[in-house]
Amino acid sequence: MNGSFAFELPLMHVTFGVTFLIAARWGQRSALFFGIAFLCNAGGFGLPVMPMGLSDLTVAWVTDILFAFSFLCFGQAAAEHFGVGHRWLWGRLAICVTSIVLCMIAVLGFDNLRAELLASDAGCVLLLGVPLLAVRGTQLRRFDRWLLASSWMVTFESLLRGISSLVTAPGQVEAFQTSRYAYLMQAMGSVCGVIFAMAGLAAVALSVIERYQTMAMIDPLSGLFNRRGFEEAIAKQSGWRERPAGIVTCDIDSFKAVNDRFGHLAGDAVIGALGAIIRARLPEGGIAARFGGEEFILFLPGRSPSQSLRIAESLRAALEAEGGEAARIDSRITASFGVSGAVASDYSVHDAIGRADAALYDAKYGGRNRVALNLFDAAEPASVQRVATRTPSAGCQASSTRMSA
Ligand code: GH3
Ligand code: MG
Ligand code: MG
Repeated sequence: MNGSFAFELPLMHVTFGVTFLIAARWGQRSALFFGIAFLCNAGGFGLPVMPMGLSDLTVAWVTDILFAFSFLCFGQAAAEHFGVGHRWLWGRLAICVTSIVLCMIAVLGFDNLRAELLASDAGCVLLLGVPLLAVRGTQLRRFDRWLLASSWMVTFESLLRGISSLVTAPGQVEAFQTSRYAYLMQAMGSVCGVIFAMAGLAAVALSVIERYQTMAMIDPLSGLFNRRGFEEAIAKQSGWRERPAGIVTCDIDSFKAVNDRFGHLAGDAVIGALGAIIRARLPEGGIAARFGGEEFILFLPGRSPSQSLRIAESLRAALEAEGGEAARIDSRITASFGVSGAVASDYSVHDAIGRADAALYDAKYGGRNRVALNLFDAAEPASVQRVATRTPSAGCQASSTRMSA
């Protein structure tokens, strides 16, 4: 075995293992399995070079167990990261046990190094390769593709090394340390280990960043965007001036009374129920956010104001019908809605939001639990807008002209 690699490789893998275990504190289960795997690998590489007075046969079967467990954990780390953590878990455990048993028979029963290495490497290939097969067809982010590619690289490296053992490994277990196989294993372990660890660390770190970014943009009560998330999502909608976009604003009616009567937690549940209703009815491409306490907003690209009015009406009806029960309170919950459309002459989407808000105030003043439409007509002076109100019982009922503030 090459002396210069002897202690570097276990040390390197200990460093990776500890780094992953620290990263696991960010809540990524894959990092935990990566950490355990690299520490087992460090043990597998380190045991043969440590002056512990163990016999060659004992070192052989203990390292076989460590490598098998290490690849079981690598496979589980990849599976956890790609969201297929439980796929074929019992099968993989069976592969791990079988590989260890075969290695022990080869070592203790026959003192046959080639058979031991074949059993060990075949186990490693399957323990990492099988969960990678489960990832097929999954939509992957760019940095995940790097992790997947480096995982396959380690799998193929184990496969090639296992096949090469037929020529690079001598017959007896005692001759392992000085074999070409041992040198090959250390050299490849160094190169592939670094690439695999870097890919794993990058994938774990970027997943954590992505999770926190999402958390910063999503309102936990409603499951919709918060104001920041809404602004960012709208900023990506560069083409909204070229095609119609509907705007719906919504405010829960008499929400203070709900809090006063049923408590703040029940109020939170009402916000959650309305969030779920909006999510279930949001058309494709639509952006919905909780803008403030009990105020919500929808941006509906490609929808005219009259189409948006129908969507708002379906939300109103659904909340009235299901809201109380969904929030587990014995009361009818209603909300008022304002609808408008974004037009090319708008300086920003907030102009259209202002018009929808004006309609929302009309819905409130009109008696609540209704949808009001505020049409902007470019042919008319900007300050004059038509407002139509849709009540629960009738269609578009009142149509009036109001001066915007
Ligand atoms: P209106 O029909 O005119 O909209 O009346 P309202 O009672 O809904 O409006 P008001 O602005 O008087 O009260 C809003 C209430 O919303 C007051 C505040 O305590 C409550 N609220 C704001 N955010 C939350 C929240 O996150 N959870 C709960 N439970 N209540 C909230
Ligand atoms: Mg309000
Ligand atoms: Mg309100």
